[in-house]
Order: sequence, then structure tokens, then C-alpha cells
Amino acid sequence: MTRAGLLSDSFGRTLRDLRVSLTDRCNFRCMYCLPETEAAQNFYRGHWAHLPHPAPIVQQWVPRAQILSFEEIERVARLAVGFGIKKIRLTGGEPLLRHGIEELVARIARIPGIEDLAMTTNGFLFPQKARALRQAGLRRVSFSLDSLDRDNFRKITGRDALDEVLEGIRLAQELGFHPVKVNAVVIRDINDHELEALAGFARARNLSYRFIEFMPLDSARAWQKEMVVTGSEMLERLRSRFELQPVTPDNPSSTAKRWGFPDGRGEIGIIAPVSEPFCGHCNRIRLTADGKIRTCLFSVTEHDLRPLLRNGADDAAIGDWLRGVVWQKEERHHIGEPDFVAPPRSMSCIGG
Ligand code: SAM
Repeated sequence: MTRAGLLSDSFGRTLRDLRVSLTDRCNFRCMYCLPETEAAQNFYRGHWAHLPHPAPIVQQWVPRAQILSFEEIERVARLAVGFGIKKIRLTGGEPLLRHGIEELVARIARIPGIEDLAMTTNGFLFPQKARALRQAGLRRVSFSLDSLDRDNFRKITGRDALDEVLEGIRLAQELGFHPVKVNAVVIRDINDHELEALAGFARARNLSYRFIEFMPLDSARAWQKEMVVTGSEMLERLRSRFELQPVTPDNPSSTAKRWGFPDGRGEIGIIAPVSEPFCGHCNRIRLTADGKIRTCLFSVTEHDLRPLLRNGADDAAIGDWLRGVVWQKEERHHIGEPDFVAPPRSMSCIGG
């Protein structure tokens, strides 16, 4: 059924990338992810009042006892690396809210065979944690920054925190994290007017900026296809402003189509999961903070690993279980199709 020792699915894909959510909590309330529902509705209403919106997801925080401990996360990471996972990304929610995160980073960084350990953060707490994280062995960090305009930043994230995030990005570069990537979810009429300014910022600061299509994973359930700025539209706009050259991907499973500036300073990437799905090359699997394995961002079924971890299952039993779960990985997502069903949990709970 599977290639010996590796995590393979029934469509011939071998998994190499594990995303680990450390918490479902977040200190931001980004409108495309985990908004304060009323604020998001007001914000969207200004532009998108005519569109129908399904009922929002009522956020139920996962009780602390159900959140995996560092020992449990480390064990899953170690087993996964033993099965061919090469890259682990720590995410959330906001991973920096997890108390003692530098200890977990150190534990995972020490796993023999791990090639790449990265983290995605909104950056707010990064200045406080950056040195300890680096010392613990973190080398790569991605920030989220959707706006350079203080007022728009506050509207999008629900927090007046642009300066802290900018400081986080600056410090990451100063401390030698590499590459420093920055993600922006581009939403029509919300921040798409800032696309060129964000690309200019990437160039000025020598950053790798990723522009992401808005996906139907927001807890407000406000997503509508009309709000999606497609990757091709983003690229067309950016190419009319900047001279961009394609960057050959070093990894066919990379989610971003990458473009560089002629002098090699800065880079942009377009991530277009809605308009140009890349499921055929997907080599990712997710572990939620409460110990569920998700084989697709859009899975409607989760596989509960926590009972095995807590009921004394040995490594061989967990390995067999994991291989069986991965075998069932979905062929692709169905966004935009009549049978599409959004997952019952938002991106903040799934782990972006
Ligand atoms: N709190 C961290 C952060 O802000 O980067 C990590 C978790 S966040 C869920 C991870 C990534 O998911 C962010 O870069 C964010 O932009 C992206 N994201 C969240 N909701 C999204 C959505 N509806 N569509 C596309 N990307 C989304």
C-alpha cells in the first residue's frame, strides 16, 4: 500500500511537509481568518453588502487539557521525520502565544534528519522572543502583513499594531533569519489597492513577499469569490509596475510562483490556491493544536491522533495509523464547485 518508510497517499504523492499548530488562540482578529464577527461584518458590509453570507462559525476555544503537550508534539514530529517529513512549520493561531515556545523549537530543531524548521507569526510578540528563538535553532520565519497603512492595518487585523510587526520584520533580518518571508492575503476593495506598495516594500527591504488569494476559511464566513483577487490579476498588475523575472522554483511542491526584481533585491511570490490549485503537487499534512491530523486544508474530516498519544500506543502503532490516514489524503479541494463544503473550523484552528 505504501512505499516502505514514507508517508505516501493513494495518488502517488509523498509527504514532506508537516504544519504544526501550537494553539488555536490568536492575539489578532484578522477579518479573513478569525475576526470579531461584528467588526468584520461592518467592514465587509461597506463593500459587499449585496452578497449572501452563511452563518459565522461560533469560535469554541479548545480546552487546555486537549492541547498537545511539547512532549506529544515532539514525538509526532520525530515520528514524522522518521517517515520522510523534511520540513516542519510551526503555526497557529498565533504560535508565539504558546508559553515556552523556544523550548519546543529547541526540541524539534534537534531531531535528526529535519532539514527545515520554520514558523509563521503575525509578528506582534516576535521582538520579545526573537533572540531566544534563534538561539533555540529557528532559522526561518514568515510574517503576516496585509497593509502598510496604519488605519487599514487596524481595520484588517483588529489591532493597532503595525509598528510592532514592522519592528519584528526588521529584527528578524538583523538577527540573520533567512529567508524572511512576509504573507499578505489580498482581498478586493479591502487591501488590493496596496498591492504595488507592498511589492515596493519587498524591494526596498529585500524581503520575500507572498501574495495569497483569499480562501473560504474565515470564521465570519464572509468569503465570496467576488472578493478574490486572482493570482493572474495580481501578477498582471505587478508586472505593469515592476520589471519582474521568473524565479525557478527549487521545489515543485512550492505553493508560490516566484518573481524576482532585476537587481536580485527582494522577491515576490503569488499563491493562488483558489484560481490555480496546486493540489497535484501537495506534499503537506497538518497537526492541529488538539492533536487532529488534517490531510488537506479543506478537509471536512479530521483524524484524531490524541487518543493514541495518550493511551500508550507504541511508535509502530502510531506509524501504521499515520500511514493509513495519509493514504486517504484528498485528491484536491473543491473551492468554486457546487459541491464545495467549507471546513467546520476556521484557518486559525486548522493552522495556516
Ligand atoms: N498567526 C500567524 C500569522 O498571522 O501568520 C500564523 C497563523 S495564520 C492562520 C497563517 C497564515 O494563514 C497567515 O499568513 C494568513 O495570512 C493566512 N490566512 C489566514 N486566513 C486565510 C484565508 N482566509 N485565506 C488565505 N490565507 C489565510
